Amino acid sequence: MKAVCWHGKHHVQVDRVPDPEILNPRDAIVRVTLTGICGSDLHIYNGLIPTMKKGDILGHEFVGVVVELGSGVKNLQKGDRVVVPFPISCGDCWYCKEGLFALCDNSNPNSFMLEKLYGDTGAGIYGYSHLYGGYAGGQAEYVRVPFADVGLEKIPEGLSDEQVIFLTDIFPTGYQAAENCAIRPGDTVAVWGCGPVGLMAMKSALHLGAGNVIGIDRFPERLEMARLHCNAEVINYEEQQNVTEQLHNLTGGRGPDSCIDAVGMEAHGSGLDAAYDTVKQTLLLETDRPTALRQLIRACRKGGTVSVPGVYSGFVDKMPMGALFAKGLTLKTGQTHVQKYLRPLMQLISSGVIDTTFLITHRMALEEAPAGYRLFLEKKDGCIKIVMNPRQASGAGR
Ligand code: NAD
Ligand code: ZN
Repeated sequence: MKAVCWHGKHHVQVDRVPDPEILNPRDAIVRVTLTGICGSDLHIYNGLIPTMKKGDILGHEFVGVVVELGSGVKNLQKGDRVVVPFPISCGDCWYCKEGLFALCDNSNPNSFMLEKLYGDTGAGIYGYSHLYGGYAGGQAEYVRVPFADVGLEKIPEGLSDEQVIFLTDIFPTGYQAAENCAIRPGDTVAVWGCGPVGLMAMKSALHLGAGNVIGIDRFPERLEMARLHCNAEVINYEEQQNVTEQLHNLTGGRGPDSCIDAVGMEAHGSGLDAAYDTVKQTLLLETDRPTALRQLIRACRKGGTVSVPGVYSGFVDKMPMGALFAKGLTLKTGQTHVQKYLRPLMQLISSGVIDTTFLITHRMALEEAPAGYRLFLEKKDGCIKIVMNPRQASGAGR
């Protein structure tokens, strides 16, 4: 089959690889009908996620059709169209039973590596390094889905792949980020990063009762999307040097009730601290650049919440711990427990309450993945979100 494989920093290519096979009774094989490129894939593309190996198949956002089933899967049938959540979760361990699916104890055969690095285990993730289990990803024609009896959601008739693809990751991720803010009616929620995750966080915050959302980024087309689709006030941080001051102006001097970091470990910045982080990251003295996170902590109102869906992988410097403490802030983080959100969010989509298709700016064939990764990295051509169809012929267009 064809699959998008990682070959090193800024080098992905479409290779011919063996088809996946059923290895365990609870496996399914899914024929991928649509797959997305995520901001998280960019951290791999930029060579910042350790334990990738040449030839690893990428991708954790995919929907498709069940074509083969292990003998232990009783709740699915061949031919079912399904949404596959990005964390792989057993459904039986203490964490899964608590609804903390991304913290599953049993799905990551390499969890000893995570234990060494972080002091504890974490779930496997499709196409996301050997640290996260070394599972083949879904930017491919077919993929093996372990624990297929847990958390896959059948796609209701009448809904297209494009309508539901973002249930695999970025919609639940934005939703969890907003839910972690414990929003009270009328709250102001500021969101750093108007990429797919930030946009879905804004939409979710409004749905959960926020009175006002503020989007912060530097790309005009992304800010425009926040304004148009999320009713957000926006701040272009390249035009407004002092974001904190601007946020205080917009909130009667108090600061936003909650601040969401939808940027993560590769924040862009131009100040002294950003230069410091870039040098340290380049010299491997620091793994992550927390420029946005520092700003969030400064800007958030006293007693507010800092919610971090943006991915961090290791160690950060000059974390304003004093401000976090002195202001009595609550910090919420983590990979998304997608399985927990699939059914209620599918309901929001099928009832027409929330539409996520506005995010799709580029439709491509799988073969075009190398160009797609480059485009998404450079945020060229107004690119917000790319979806790839393994059956689409190259060059068939947007
Ligand atoms: P993206 O790259 O499309 O968007 C990131 C946005 O942040 C860009 O628009 C960029 O211009 C903006 N940005 C960069 N520096 C900034 C700064 N200093 N201030 C304000 N904005 C800044 O990525 P995405 O797909 O939206 O993903 C965002 C983050 O969420 C990534 O770190 C990704 O890994 C993470 N993520 C986490 C989960 C999870 O389970 N927690 C799931 C999916 C994605
Ligand atoms: Zn993702």
